[in-house]
Amino acid sequence: LPTGRSDNVGGNVRVVVRVRGFLPREVERGAECLIEMDPTNQATKLLVPPSSDPANTRANTRKVFEEKSFTFDNSFWSFNKADEHYAHQEDVYNCLGEEFLDHNFEGYHTCIFAYGQTGSGKSYTMMGTPDQPGLIPRTCEDLFQRIESNDSPNISYNVRVSYFEVYNEHVRDLLVPRQDPPYYLKIRESPTEGPYIKDLTEVPVKSISEIMRYMRAGDTSRTIASTKMNDTSSRSHAVFTIMLKQIHHDMDTDETTERMARIRLVDLAGSERAKSTEATGQRLREGSNINKSLTTLGRVIAALADPRHGRGGRKKDIVPYRDSILTWLLKDSLGGNSKTAMIACIAPSDYDETLSTLRYADQAK
Ligand code: ADP
Repeated sequence: LPTGRSDNVGGNVRVVVRVRGFLPREVERGAECLIEMDPTNQATKLLVPPSSDPANTRANTRKVFEEKSFTFDNSFWSFNKADEHYAHQEDVYNCLGEEFLDHNFEGYHTCIFAYGQTGSGKSYTMMGTPDQPGLIPRTCEDLFQRIESNDSPNISYNVRVSYFEVYNEHVRDLLVPRQDPPYYLKIRESPTEGPYIKDLTEVPVKSISEIMRYMRAGDTSRTIASTKMNDTSSRSHAVFTIMLKQIHHDMDTDETTERMARIRLVDLAGSERAKSTEATGQRLREGSNINKSLTTLGRVIAALADPRHGRGGRKKDIVPYRDSILTWLLKDSLGGNSKTAMIACIAPSDYDETLSTLRYADQAK
């Protein structure tokens, strides 16, 4: 599998795209693949759809479809098109997750986002299935394997996790039972630590099975919400955080030093644009808040990826963290020595949504 650009443009920011395979309903309607990827230069091409595909025709608009090309740090195939560039869950982890975990063990924060319309493969990429685990379980497994194989008597580790969702610019703890009406947590700012969520549950974990149990409990809390409240899950951003503390004990001086790295794994709200005819009242507010966090996130990542960032070419305060709750809360894990990745998930045969996702990813690069 190609390892992507070696010139490391934008330093600590990686933008990759992943196309999912066809779903049965797409096969049924005879959908054609509109994506081409070139493994030699990591290019992704969006092709003009055949006019017979109802998912790509707009009755009342005289829409002009054009072929578009983009280049990312990686372009991942997710289904076997007899293409050498086919990426399994394992390949995505090896290409991205592993390097990010190395960074965490060096004491730095990382943040991986999955972006895309609902049904484009965000959860599959982050969480995966029991047979095909995604980035989160693979990161947890690798993390505990590394901790268990540590044979240095003067290093010990402490792992805690939290899981929260940002819905409509409010924060909800996913590790406490759901309350009706929902209980939202307050955001505070500490002079030393920056923004933080007051009273957010942080649980110590000692094994992969323990961490997965919390992960699933949190997912259930998010899923219950989705059936109750018109598919809230696709409208909320779910932030799974692993806090890895390394404790170094200096035998000579008997002093201990601690380093904390935060591993943020974020399943973003569905990026589909609110259709103006459906969006009124609460829906409209949700829509505009989702767009606000996603737009702000795109601007934050773009500012961080700008090679001039942090070199005096641009003022630091130009990064608009404060413009949305999500970016404000993740400020510590974005920029500075942190590594950030955006995985743009796309469906193989949806021209409009895919174009909008690829454009978003492209401007974040
Ligand atoms: P999202 O989280 O973006 O709403 P999902 O992750 O739920 O989307 O994916 C939608 C469907 O497509 C699921 O049935 C999922 O199993 C399947 N899927 C997504 N990505 C892949 C992939 N890379 N390979 C195989 N199946 C996938």
